[in-house]
Amino acid sequence: MKPIVRTVPASVTMSLDLAARELSAAGRDIINLTAGQVDLPIPDEGKAALIAALEADRTGYVPATGSADLREAVRRKKGWTDGQILISSGAKPLLSAAIGCILGPGDEVLLPTPCYTSYPEMIRLFGAVPVPVPCRAQNGFTVTRHDLEHSVTPRAKALLLNHPTNPTGAVYDADALRAIVEFCKAHDLWLIADEVYGAFVYEDAFVSLYDFPDVRDRLILIDSASKTYAMAGLRLGYAVAPDPAAAAMSGFLSHAVGCPCSLSERAAIAVLSLRDTWSDRLRELFRARRDLLWSAVSEIPQLHGQKSAGAFYLWLDVTKIDGDDVRFCRRLLDTQGVAITPGSAFLCPGYVRLAYTQDATLLAEAAARLCRFCAQS
Ligand code: PLP
Repeated sequence: MKPIVRTVPASVTMSLDLAARELSAAGRDIINLTAGQVDLPIPDEGKAALIAALEADRTGYVPATGSADLREAVRRKKGWTDGQILISSGAKPLLSAAIGCILGPGDEVLLPTPCYTSYPEMIRLFGAVPVPVPCRAQNGFTVTRHDLEHSVTPRAKALLLNHPTNPTGAVYDADALRAIVEFCKAHDLWLIADEVYGAFVYEDAFVSLYDFPDVRDRLILIDSASKTYAMAGLRLGYAVAPDPAAAAMSGFLSHAVGCPCSLSERAAIAVLSLRDTWSDRLRELFRARRDLLWSAVSEIPQLHGQKSAGAFYLWLDVTKIDGDDVRFCRRLLDTQGVAITPGSAFLCPGYVRLAYTQDATLLAEAAARLCRFCAQS
């Protein structure tokens, strides 16, 4: 086994989710706020398309980067007129393809932190080097051009930006994105953008990096049906990239992944043609949950945070209670049966992430237990 394989740890968020599920299965009353997945069924139209595809025996291979009609549906829905569209089994393989195709051993990737738990490992798996760029609380955990200029070296080849952001819920406005675009152009960097939470923006309208035409020749933009259409387990993601990156990614996906799931493709075509009412309802549901959880949690004097502007996470500083965020989470799970994720999993110790992916009753109960825990600590 190569040494790199031995050094890649499993996803911390997935293992905590598993621990909470096992406790639940053993009969403990657990409220699980670790999982970053929408707790709703797939839209009816998607379910019907999935069943119809199965009954029609559409179970063979499809093209490595997706069937033409799905690529066309993505192009129409997303308005991705320039560049090639690639379909794969979720955002993750597309991220891996982007990283694997544009970075060589020793190349640096600027990574605003806190960040999605899989990014640093994905980068390392290809022999490239993640360069954490800490985002500051006073900037709402968004990265600024100043932060980036401080961290960039001649070895940097790409910036990996997640907007809206897991785990902080931070959202970038048009001015902040413009500054990032200018930075990437000035340093001749690729911009890998992960916008899987684009449907979950609660204050202003979502601005995508694709809205900046002058960055499209260096932009690999990744999205998926996992969050937007509650299809996480069906594994269906889409990306747009310019050539020659798109051609290289297509080759990568054909060898490493094979093709997307033929049935999920049919479901994706159905949900992508839904009117905006689905996303409007989804956003309103999650906005109400965010408001509920934030209003309860912001009453706890020892915890500090901000109302998230996007995604479905609250990000809280717990250092007034425990300097060790992993211990905080373990104690909260053991004593109150509430599972949350330590900030260490996102390269940011001292914080915790609460996913509001449960219904309002459970969120209110989780907040009450958290309040009790903090009062007793
Ligand atoms: N990117 C981010 C920022 C995520 O939070 C997640 C899942 O939690 C993913 C990508 C994975 O998406 P997918 O299920 O489409 O592979």
